Amino acid sequence: MRFAQVALPIPRRTLFTYEIPDAMTVEAGSLVLVPVGKREQAGIVWEIRETPAWNQGPIARIIAPFADMPMLGGDLLHLLDWIARYYLCPIGSVTAAALPGELSFQRKRRALWLGSPEELAALPESLHPLALRLAQTKAKGLGEETLGREFGLKEVNTRLRNLEKRGLIRIDTSWNARLPTTGQPITSSTPFVPQSRPELTDEQHHAVDRLTQALEQHAFAPFLLEGITGSGKTEVYLRAIEACLQRGRQALVLVPEIALTSQMIERLSARFPDSLAVLHSGLSRSQRPREWWRARLGEARVVIGARSALFAPFMDLGLVIVDEEHDPSYKQDGTVPYQARDMAAVRAQKNQAILLLGSATPSMESLANAQRGRYTHLRLTRRVGGGVLPSIEAVHLGDPAIRAVLGRDGLLSPPLCAAMTQTLQAGRQVLLFLNRRGFAPSLLCHRCGQAIQCPHCSVTLTLHKNRSRLLCHYCDFTREPMDVCPSCGQLSLFHFGPGTQRLEEECRTHFPQARIARLDRDTVSSGRHTLEETLTAFTRHNLDILVGTQMIAKGHHFPGLSLVGVVQAETSLCQPDFRASERTFQLLTQVTGRAGREDQQGRAIIQTFDPHHYAVAAALGVVGDFTLREMAFRHQAGYPPSQRLALLRFSAAVQPEGEIYCQTVQSRLAENPDAIFLGPAPAPLFKLRNRYRWQLLIKERPGGRLHRALPGVLALAQSLASSRIRLELDVDPYTFL
Ligand code: ADP
Ligand code: ZN
Repeated sequence: MRFAQVALPIPRRTLFTYEIPDAMTVEAGSLVLVPVGKREQAGIVWEIRETPAWNQGPIARIIAPFADMPMLGGDLLHLLDWIARYYLCPIGSVTAAALPGELSFQRKRRALWLGSPEELAALPESLHPLALRLAQTKAKGLGEETLGREFGLKEVNTRLRNLEKRGLIRIDTSWNARLPTTGQPITSSTPFVPQSRPELTDEQHHAVDRLTQALEQHAFAPFLLEGITGSGKTEVYLRAIEACLQRGRQALVLVPEIALTSQMIERLSARFPDSLAVLHSGLSRSQRPREWWRARLGEARVVIGARSALFAPFMDLGLVIVDEEHDPSYKQDGTVPYQARDMAAVRAQKNQAILLLGSATPSMESLANAQRGRYTHLRLTRRVGGGVLPSIEAVHLGDPAIRAVLGRDGLLSPPLCAAMTQTLQAGRQVLLFLNRRGFAPSLLCHRCGQAIQCPHCSVTLTLHKNRSRLLCHYCDFTREPMDVCPSCGQLSLFHFGPGTQRLEEECRTHFPQARIARLDRDTVSSGRHTLEETLTAFTRHNLDILVGTQMIAKGHHFPGLSLVGVVQAETSLCQPDFRASERTFQLLTQVTGRAGREDQQGRAIIQTFDPHHYAVAAALGVVGDFTLREMAFRHQAGYPPSQRLALLRFSAAVQPEGEIYCQTVQSRLAENPDAIFLGPAPAPLFKLRNRYRWQLLIKERPGGRLHRALPGVLALAQSLASSRIRLELDVDPYTFL
């Protein structure tokens, strides 16, 4: 007898043992259907054993395997295992994160008629169509549609069982995986024919040479490609992919958000027609598994997708590219808080593949790895075709003359307005960036100073004018705006703090002739095509002014754009987050870099209350080396990449209970050679969705190892928590709210 250790997509830390029926072939990595209580569930075979694990009750058998071939190769099992250990989360939750949600089995039932034709004719007429159609019908589909109104599923089952008892029919049940296993594996001998492509610049040439040499070695090699906007990083990716495909291997391209990646997808599919698989959330239930198998069988040679594409299966993965590697959306929130960029390195390592991280503004983590010599640092310092970087100026919003013009809620300063007028008159385009959506963030009382808050979360409600609603950006609570301040009862509420919607309105007032559009989460979620349509319209110069949040800051290439305005540099700076300066510098550099990418020099204007802040000044080009300064700060304060961090979050529905728990945890935390504990303290966002929240910051000691301390801390916290306390451990956290 053989047994399989199976990981099930449920939040459990253990594997489950099942017996493998004699005739069944399953291997580690196979997807199987197994009984779980009264239900059936898909799971992953982790390992095969000759004996069952100890202390196991009666052992159930695997019902059916998914396909002849293991869906997940050894490298993926290794990755999932790594994630479970590194982030200290249940292997079951990791499995759930990795499996495509659409994965399911269908039960097919077939009834064989055993009786005579006379007996068939004697059946109640209502059972005729049923008996005939059963041959192809799935159990789940045996609903009203098939059977007519007078039959429920239960009654049909009863009648069928009666027929079975009378020996008239035999019912066979079989299971069918939803995933098609068609498709011929492409062997590595299938030649890859490169398409026509541009002559590389010297810098690109050098980078591609290094990457190709590394591919030749067939060993893990990590690279950081730092290239200013418009320096041709994507072309380097394309060449590296070519070189990888020529060696018969496959490539994975991770992007921060697939919806903002249409240009990259176009370029990839133009260069690698027929061999591209795009994994995005819009795929249907049948499409996603199909794309998975195409990758697994080697039919898709290049896979592109956001974060979760990290878990796509491959035949032979030779290259992993992480585009815009600094982007915070690579970090997943929730029960499996993995950082896809870091895990891409784990996956590449196991596959003896090349890791290529690309960005105009690399993360401090990756820069530190490059400085320590762990990553090969490749640089592209010049724009392709001799294009120059935009000239960047600051407008000091605190300047009394400017304040006098702007008044209480004006957004466009005279210098920015003048530049916009000039640009529009020259027939060029303008991009305005404000990292805050809505009309004004809040309704504020000028008498008592209170802002209108969400009753469930400790944040102010945001005013959205189109919907004439106040909206909580955390829990989606909405209500009508009021006229009277709930705290002091006066008619004294006014709109405070601008959002993109207000900005759009101000643009329309100033430039009534211009064609204006806005891109943020509000406009995008209101219709699926708006995002692409708007980006395309702006690319084709069917719009003059585009207003938006960070959505417009990402890798897009707009040929007619010559002026970028940053409306308020501070929006990302005033965050309780040690990465606030890094984020600000990155956003400012990325968004100003959109200007003037081809023949014309672009111009950027940054409006700010603090032009001397080093993140702003560095984006303005006033002070050199942002990295040096930021690294010094991280080192001094003991933050990543100098020391690792983890954040233990917990919440309680009742405030005193949470406080008591806090005190207990605090008193039990012992001196630790590996970690320093800060807190527990109330989270900045203290109340969220009616729960009170605290956090404990766990900081690696210099010379210590965070991961030696974490299991003990988590175990302690868990042992002290009642079932009403919710705990969440976030290793390498990116949000501190
Ligand atoms: P990045 O990703 O660094 O912002 P891209 O790869 O998008 O830059 O390149 C910017 C533009 O230059 C694109 O239109 C691209 O097609 C073009 N380009 C890139 N490399 C070359 C080259 N070697 N010769 C001519 N054009 C190039
Ligand atoms: Zn709320």
